[in-house]
Amino acid sequence: MKIIRTIAELHAARSEARAAGATRVGFVPTMGALHEGHLSLLRTARAENDLVVLSIFVNPTQFTEPSDLDAYPRTEEADAALAATAGVDLIFAPDAAELYPSGHATTVHVAGRLTETLEGAGRGEAHFDGMATIVTKLLLAVLPSTAYFGQKDAQQLLVVQRMVADLGIPTRIAACPTARAADGLALSSRNVRLNAAERSRAIAIPRALAAADALVTEGVRDVGALRAAASEILAAADITPEYLAFVIPESLAPIDSVDGPVLCAIAARVGEVRLIDNVVLTPTPESTQE
Ligand code: AMP
Repeated sequence: MKIIRTIAELHAARSEARAAGATRVGFVPTMGALHEGHLSLLRTARAENDLVVLSIFVNPTQFTEPSDLDAYPRTEEADAALAATAGVDLIFAPDAAELYPSGHATTVHVAGRLTETLEGAGRGEAHFDGMATIVTKLLLAVLPSTAYFGQKDAQQLLVVQRMVADLGIPTRIAACPTARAADGLALSSRNVRLNAAERSRAIAIPRALAAADALVTEGVRDVGALRAAASEILAAADITPEYLAFVIPESLAPIDSVDGPVLCAIAARVGEVRLIDNVVLTPTPESTQE
């Protein structure tokens, strides 16, 4: 496994691998502080490709709060050790000046509801501009056949799919399921910043999602009823969500009845730490008839 700092070295390593017969290149972009969620993406990439590239870059332009950027964990040595166990071939870990050299003036902006709602409303438009720009730059630097993204960041995944389709970037975008701790909390690099009391309150987030899911399985269709049940669980843990949204998974348009798959998404601060999670609610044919 090689650690690479520049785009020029990355292109050279990629050409070398291609000359040696590697045609399928899998890419997992991350901000580091790797956990089992990242590793699940890397293992999928390893199983499906000849060459696996991991990027580690805490992208300053997608952080809308300077304190969040400062507090973001940076653990490159441990990340490299974990990446090696997942069979990564190349780690691309550039510094900010490599990706944003002086004079850098281009932003990729995905317009409309996909970036304006939920995380876009909560964190500001700059968040998705920063994310779309860095993902475009990384895809062009790595030129992967497939790039792997987590369903945990469902809106990010949608924005990336839109952008790749619109710009004609020849990379398949693969969606991977959310990896969770045994108690249900979605794994996140930010979880290390929760103290013990916050960590146990945070479980209310996946529980609220699970409660909505269970009600849909029982045949409940009214979003008002689902919202009430989820809100009650969050409130009991003293969590006021920034949003608790029920939307069409592809368009993020709000709905008031579960007549097909619905993305239920939550963002909430637990102490200082902003957490997000989601689940796709799918009415079963049997429960629809009730
Ligand atoms: P991040 O380092 O948080 O920017 O995440 C890098 C990639 O890992 C993104 O595609 C995330 O959606 C994905 N990811 C983060 N947490 C999880 C998780 N718990 N399960 C699956 N994928 C995840």
